[in-house]
Amino acid sequence: MEIVEVSARDGLQSEDVLLDTDTKVELISRAVDAGVRRIEVCSFVNPKRVPQMADAEGVLAGLPARKDVTYIGLVLNRRGFERAAGAGMREINVVAVTTDTFGMRNQGATSDETVAVFEDIAPLARDAGMHATLTISTAFGCPYEGEVPVERVVEIVRRGAAAGATEIALADTIGVAAPTDVTERIAAADEVRDAATLRAHFHNTRNTGIANAYAAVEAGVSALDASLGGIGGCPFAPNATGNIPTEDLAYMLERMGVDIGLDLDALAAIVPWIEAKLGKRVPGLLSKAGRFPAAP
Ligand code: ZN
Repeated sequence: MEIVEVSARDGLQSEDVLLDTDTKVELISRAVDAGVRRIEVCSFVNPKRVPQMADAEGVLAGLPARKDVTYIGLVLNRRGFERAAGAGMREINVVAVTTDTFGMRNQGATSDETVAVFEDIAPLARDAGMHATLTISTAFGCPYEGEVPVERVVEIVRRGAAAGATEIALADTIGVAAPTDVTERIAAADEVRDAATLRAHFHNTRNTGIANAYAAVEAGVSALDASLGGIGGCPFAPNATGNIPTEDLAYMLERMGVDIGLDLDALAAIVPWIEAKLGKRVPGLLSKAGRFPAAP
């Protein structure tokens, strides 16, 4: 099971405290030192819309160049893709949405238009030797339109796979899913994913995040997103709270006997540092409670 660390992008983008480039580089470097090998590090979006992500190129330039670590950049349009390619990214993630209302408010595009962006960019990425992954935002529910039919999610998975996605993620952007929803939707996605692997992305808005992660593991996903300390949200989703905490997820999976290749103590040690940088307590619990049994 692979854990994709998203604190530097999804985690930080809705934080009020703007972290400087060096601090972001340190956060990502600490995650690498704790064993994380795939990290969402930046977003190539309009800096006016998301000021926290204005220094994408600067962050990338400061990161340790390691062949065994994959850095991921989020792109929402052709311009973002060109920036990512120009910065030498090897993996990009494109976000499609399931409803027109969320799409218009979040990206200024309808649901179909966001999927079409991926269909436009995926072949360009492949030609440039980059992995193109697709995240389906609001895959379990929309803050404006409510319930999202599973058929809509399946249709986007099918189109993403046909366009050449190497991985497709189902994201519970606003934290509404229950584990039974996860079981159902991962199974439905699995039937049409073609060669793409599956990843899941959960927010803990209603405290179901870790239960949903367990359901996703049982349903056979290859990867889970998580954010150190559980920081995060979505600037365009009202009252969305943090991602599931990386260190808490790592504790659960390690105790379940799932191989994740992460150093629990090193992960937990990053959390007080994040709290100091953000000037607040974060939701993650392992850093407060400690592992069990205690490390020798
Ligand atoms: Zn998210």
